[in-house]
Amino acid sequence: MPALPVVVAGAGPTGLMCALALGRQGIPVILLEGEPALAHDLRAGTFHPPTLELMAPYGITARMHETGLEVRHWQIRDLGGEFVAQFDLGRIANVTPYPYRLHLEQHRLTPIQLDILRRETDAEVRFGHQVTGFVQHADRVDVEVTADGGTETIAASWLIGADGGRSTVRKVLDIEFEGFTWPEQFVVASTQYDFAQHGFAMNSYISDPVNWAAVFKMPHEGPPGIWRTVFPGASGLSDEALLAPEAIEPAMQTILPRAAAYEIRYKSVYRVHQRVAKTFRVGRVLIAGDAAHLNNPMGGLGLNSGIHDAVNLADKLGRVWRGEAEDGLLDRYVRQRRSATIEQVQAMSIRNKRLLEERDPKVQRERLTELIATAADPARARTYLLESSMIAGLKRANEAS
Ligand SMILES: Cc1cc2nc3c(=O)[nH]c(=O)nc-3n(C[C@H](O)[C@H](O)[C@H](O)COP(=O)(O)OP(=O)(O)OC[C@H]3O[C@@H](n4cnc5c(N)ncnc54)[C@H](O)[C@@H]3O)c2cc1C
Repeated sequence: MPALPVVVAGAGPTGLMCALALGRQGIPVILLEGEPALAHDLRAGTFHPPTLELMAPYGITARMHETGLEVRHWQIRDLGGEFVAQFDLGRIANVTPYPYRLHLEQHRLTPIQLDILRRETDAEVRFGHQVTGFVQHADRVDVEVTADGGTETIAASWLIGADGGRSTVRKVLDIEFEGFTWPEQFVVASTQYDFAQHGFAMNSYISDPVNWAAVFKMPHEGPPGIWRTVFPGASGLSDEALLAPEAIEPAMQTILPRAAAYEIRYKSVYRVHQRVAKTFRVGRVLIAGDAAHLNNPMGGLGLNSGIHDAVNLADKLGRVWRGEAEDGLLDRYVRQRRSATIEQVQAMSIRNKRLLEERDPKVQRERLTELIATAADPARARTYLLESSMIAGLKRANEAS
């Protein structure tokens, strides 16, 4: 009997990376995506050094550099720009070939992953195929799929749920998704107005109890690029009200006042959660990426950690699939990636958000002054950058047995 394929649910960045990393090992893979095509996803856009290192052997990183922006400096500043802590990733150039954050829209990453997957592996990619359930057996998983109005069952050796925050796979496994949802919604609005002329780094975080924000320069369709802002929208308002010009224009003017009105090219609104699944594995079924954990976007960690999950899992599952290791190795995936998620991604993203929204002006000024001193001190800045770039946390997690 031919060996059964690994089925991956979800062709977001995590599922595509799982399929590619398994396919490259010669393992048969079927990637099922519920939507008819890749998502035009405006969410993520910041890639940290270890993520670029992990994707480099697959040729993804080089392709990302064709359009991505290398962001060597990033800032935390107050609203008026009186206190500005600027960090220089050049300080960690001796530990990574990518001493910067690479900015590239999520919807420009996934086509690169898919293209390489199709060119370099025998993986089967099926769009318009929604995973609706599965039944586990000792030697396989029967995956139930809906497509073209009909249903079919695919026999898989293993199933990976990379099907996003509302993961069907996680729900069928009945795994608790522990954590909380932030009360405010996150509004994302993009403009071509150039923030750099006002001293903003291409990645800047603004600390303010009410009007905290994050600013990212993105490549868009090429120079001059586009400036993406993220700021809180009042809870209880409809998406329509949050995205109305009467709501967006004052928020933009607060971040950076100017005489003319802002021309907004793109806008969207997100509900944001901090949640981690109680386990990432039940039998022959595993979960990864947003299906396993969610965090707020301050620090740009979510998609990055999904790629870290995918590479870690594909390596271990490859060994188990070939019979080189017992399936207990997969529990190590769970331990390593759950601890990275909890100790690194959850802790940092919550800390980042709390720092930005600090309510006591005295404490806020003290923290910014401390950060300015940290950024100016080579040794302290380096330690700070190794953490915020996910290098230190990933190393710690990978050392866990
Ligand atoms: C405002 C905002 C900004 C962000 N910025 C950053 C950032 O700068 N850096 C960063 O690292 N992260 C960022 N993130 C987080 C990042 O967008 C996510 O972590 C990332 O999209 C997760 O990828 P994924 O592949 O795990 O899930 P998804 O991207 O959600 O992909 C899941 C896929 O599965 C498909 N699917 C769902 N159900 C099924 C099913 N039953 N069967 C088959 N297919 C299915 C979906 O259609 C989708 O294509 C941000 C998030 C937000 C909200």
